[in-house]
Amino acid sequence: MATNLKKTDVVIVGLGAVGGVAALPLTQAGLEVIGIEAGNWLTPRDFAPDELRNNFRGWPQSAQKANGEVPTHRPNAAAPYSPRLPIHPMMNAVGGTSLHYWAQSWRLNPWDFKVVSETSQRYGATRIPKSATVEDWPFGLEELEPYYDKVEYELGVSGQAGNIQGKVDKRGNIFEGPRLREYPMPPLRGTEFTELIATTARKLGWHPFPGPAAINSQGFDDRPGCMYHGFCSRGGCPINAKNSTAVSTIPKAVATGRLKVVTLATTTNVVVDEKSGRITGVIYVKGSQEFFQPADVVLLASYTYENVRLLLLSKSKVFPNGLSNNGGQVGRHYFSHNTASTVTALFPFNINNWYGLPAQGVAVDNWADDNFDHSGLDFIGGGNLWVYSDRRPIGAASMTTFGKAPRWGSAWKSFVKQNADRWNLAYIQKTTLPYDDNYLDLDPTVKDSLGLPVCRITADFKDNERKVGAFMQEKMARLFMEAGAIAVDKGPPGTMGPSTHAYGGTRMGDNADTNVVNQWGFSHEAPNLGILGASVMGTSGAHNPTLTAQALAWRTADHLTKNWKAIASG
Ligand SMILES: Cc1cc2nc3c(=O)[nH]c(=O)nc-3n(C[C@H](O)[C@H](O)[C@H](O)COP(=O)(O)OP(=O)(O)OC[C@H]3O[C@@H](n4cnc5c(N)ncnc54)[C@H](O)[C@@H]3O)c2cc1C
Ligand code: SF4
Repeated sequence: MATNLKKTDVVIVGLGAVGGVAALPLTQAGLEVIGIEAGNWLTPRDFAPDELRNNFRGWPQSAQKANGEVPTHRPNAAAPYSPRLPIHPMMNAVGGTSLHYWAQSWRLNPWDFKVVSETSQRYGATRIPKSATVEDWPFGLEELEPYYDKVEYELGVSGQAGNIQGKVDKRGNIFEGPRLREYPMPPLRGTEFTELIATTARKLGWHPFPGPAAINSQGFDDRPGCMYHGFCSRGGCPINAKNSTAVSTIPKAVATGRLKVVTLATTTNVVVDEKSGRITGVIYVKGSQEFFQPADVVLLASYTYENVRLLLLSKSKVFPNGLSNNGGQVGRHYFSHNTASTVTALFPFNINNWYGLPAQGVAVDNWADDNFDHSGLDFIGGGNLWVYSDRRPIGAASMTTFGKAPRWGSAWKSFVKQNADRWNLAYIQKTTLPYDDNYLDLDPTVKDSLGLPVCRITADFKDNERKVGAFMQEKMARLFMEAGAIAVDKGPPGTMGPSTHAYGGTRMGDNADTNVVNQWGFSHEAPNLGILGASVMGTSGAHNPTLTAQALAWRTADHLTKNWKAIASG
């Protein structure tokens, strides 16, 4: 029997990258907020520069909840299951995965909000793949711009603007939509190698620019600048130069006195009043005890797979197929960013990738989105070329031998010894679309440590993604070869297993028949339930999702504070 707790205004389930952002505007507006977080507080002492611990053993995830619920995957409903990942990529802790992410903090480009209408207008509606379920967003970039701006300045993002209020600056991304002002900090510095790539791109007539990152390039908000120490991928920052929500928005929300953080607490159910159909609170498990936390409004912010899983697990008489799922849309329109179809290059010289971080690099957007003419092509969308600095010993030794040496023995050892610092991998983020047969549901057999079914992914890349992949590989290979590479290796198209960039499943849109939440992030079926994260996004663009998900979270929170009575009391 769950222990009943005192009612609060808002419960946020998960205080990660997006829940940690939403807490700030809510508490600043005077609302009492309880953040129910599966992980614990971590400190810089937890962030050892240790590749084995961070990248292979899944780092101290403070509660190993995520690892017990790694989603299962099959490419389609008739296919066998893929091998299950040994560890979950995401983090359980206050700050969530923003503690150990790479911190690239991209805005989407204008086209990403209007894929259907822009494509139809420019090339004809037949260019949208037949089984794609893609829709235009309910608003354009201009609506989200003020929220991008707020988040960039609250977290601290370094970068070089490419378009300030319509004035294009060639030092930045000339394809970005207009922004109000410069980034709060200049970009992270480049390396000799990323400068070589930038110079080469310019020679090709392309437009290279430094990527934006939620990492201090100089002191910001009493936190120091980055020391480029090289253990940033799946490593937390020992000096707080990486602007996770654990060191930025969450402490500011706690300082208002209105955010209570309940740690090591796993939400298992969102509770509904059987008469009114309204949400009354959540059930969570802490230690061996169960609690009921009543709230006027519940915001789910537990990452795409868990957002969908919690909805599907929360069955009631009013919602027999899972919460907010009477329209059968929970789990639909799922997709994960296409970062397969990689290109690896071998250079005849050392490139000094031992120091630095993966958010420190050079980008080219000439082949992203609809920044180029697709008239003679047979796909829509494109990719972002990104060359960055990141290398640690085990990863370095896992290098491909480019067909120039065997994969074992003394010839392999001497090849790796000579070339461990002479190769570079580009994963190229590419447009991915949602399709009618790509979806999330509950696995019928695999359970987590509480005995609850884990999320199951049924999804694969389709023709459009594979064609974008092959096109982008050509561009990337050309860039590397022009920069002096002596060999390139192109990776396979891959499949859509558990991803760090997982979109959809609770898509946002005005049409209640094809979407779970409305344009403000609130459920079409249960009006005092909000959903935060990339699970509400309907397109991926060619850039990482987190800044967009955070801007959306701020916007949802802002809407809630301005419409509190209507949403909280129905
Ligand atoms: C190695 C790595 C590198 C990445 N690099 C980038 C990058 O450079 N740029 C970028 O944009 N994105 C990047 N990402 C993706 C980025 O981390 C995610 O987009 C972002 O963290 C998602 O935010 P979220 O709040 O939805 O999820 P999270 O940040 O994972 O937060 C979810 C929170 O919910 C909690 N939670 C989960 N289930 C429950 C439950 N049942 N009850 C209570 N609490 C719960 C979790 O403990 C967690 O704290 C990267 C990810 C990884 C793993
Ligand atoms: S590389 Fe910079 S931001 Fe990343 S962990 Fe090291 S000091 Fe922190």
